[in-house]
Amino acid sequence: MEDFPLNSIFLTPKTRSPLILMYHGTPNHDPSSIYSIRADLFNEHVCFLKKQGWHTALFRDLHNGSALPRKTVILTFDDGYADNYDGAFLPLMENNMRATWFITTDCIGKHSDMMGAPLPMLTAEQLRQMKKAGMEIGSHTCAHPDLRQLSYQQQQAEMIQSRQILETIIGGKISTFAYPYGHYNEDSITALNDADYQLACTTTIRPDGFNRKNHPFLFRRVPILANDSVTTLALKLAFAEGYYWYLPKMTYPEKKWARYFYRRIKDKWIGDRQATPE
Ligand SMILES: [Zn+2]
Repeated sequence: MEDFPLNSIFLTPKTRSPLILMYHGTPNHDPSSIYSIRADLFNEHVCFLKKQGWHTALFRDLHNGSALPRKTVILTFDDGYADNYDGAFLPLMENNMRATWFITTDCIGKHSDMMGAPLPMLTAEQLRQMKKAGMEIGSHTCAHPDLRQLSYQQQQAEMIQSRQILETIIGGKISTFAYPYGHYNEDSITALNDADYQLACTTTIRPDGFNRKNHPFLFRRVPILANDSVTTLALKLAFAEGYYWYLPKMTYPEKKWARYFYRRIKDKWIGDRQATPE
């Protein structure tokens, strides 16, 4: 099948680096964007991860990824929506889990219409509390631009200024970054390096598969969408996007094989007997 990244199916949780999930808002009502998820559904995700024995790490922990337990997942939240405080931060705290927040600094304590409707954003005080509680704060630029449209100097200014603002707020070092919209170019990577960041993540699908050979500034994330049930979460945990994303495009023998493979590993890795792929 044309451009089907078979290696992303072969990469089981045993052979790839920990999966990084990308969340956005966690409102207590139906979200205005498919990139956000209701707080009660997020809570189901948290309970599932805990029940199945998943360890949560911070994104910056991938700097030394070999020390992490094999069943590790990294939860990340983009932009800094205020509903993350009650809808994600507190439930994670209650369950002794950790996560990374990538903050757009121009929006701190204000409203942002990045999701179509104006939504309140996390305040500086909330970010301080989250950092104190063991969560990671990373940069998501100042103004959330498409970095590909900016010069090297403009990109570096976004990276350095956002980091300085966040470091002033939380009183610690910021070493990680997420590209707005997942978009980057070669200048972005050079600028991050020159601005002394250690790791960055994107959402762009990589032709060489899923983080098998990690580039420190190109960690791939799997988006979690508004209707992602626990079953879909389990599928994404098992196959990254390889299975979930490409299954509809597979021809019959590939589908049959993928199902066989899925059944073989599901009990061991995710243990969700209801998570039958369709
Ligand atoms: Zn964003």
